[in-house]
Amino acid sequence: DQDSRERELRHQATHDPLTGLANRAMFNERLAEVAEDGRVGVLFLDLDRFKQINDTLGHDHGDEVLRRVARFLVEGVRREDVVARWGGEEFALLLPSTRASDALRLAERLRQALEDLDLGVTASFGVAEYLPGESEEALFRRADQALYRAKERGRNRVEFIPGG
Ligand code: GH3
Ligand code: MG
Ligand code: MG
Repeated sequence: DQDSRERELRHQATHDPLTGLANRAMFNERLAEVAEDGRVGVLFLDLDRFKQINDTLGHDHGDEVLRRVARFLVEGVRREDVVARWGGEEFALLLPSTRASDALRLAERLRQALEDLDLGVTASFGVAEYLPGESEEALFRRADQALYRAKERGRNRVEFIPGG
């Protein structure tokens, strides 16, 4: 009926079809909501040398790895956290009511657990904390810079760039 069609359209507009995760639009929507009432931690993570997985094991295998990483992330965080597919092999986590030190601890735990999962893939993590009043772009820039630093310093590691 009309209602279920609307729900379906709404779901399509806010989720990634490959993994079923939230998409950027959904992430931004939730960020705007939770940023009003307190601290927000953000993790960006990008799979390491993922192109090599596609090249050696095939694109379908790559897709399966992305789905498994998605499930792994959802199972590894709290119900109120948002796990989004940010782009190709990049994911973003939104952690409401979370200070930077706890976001860092979570990132390190996920990094290690993904390595231990033996999916044949590791990830680099960039951590940032939302500063009240700042733009989303400024927050994403720090998370991105931190992720870039994690790649630069050898991958399969976590970096944090403090704000302010
Ligand atoms: P780095 O450690 O620097 O991140 O290396 P990388 O190989 O992961 O990074 P690069 O940006 O060179 O390659 C990303 C690869 O991710 C290339 C692209 O084909 C693959 N990819 C992006 N989206 C998908 C997808 O939906 N499915 C599959 N199978 N592969 C994807
Ligand atoms: Mg990558
Ligand atoms: Mg990438």
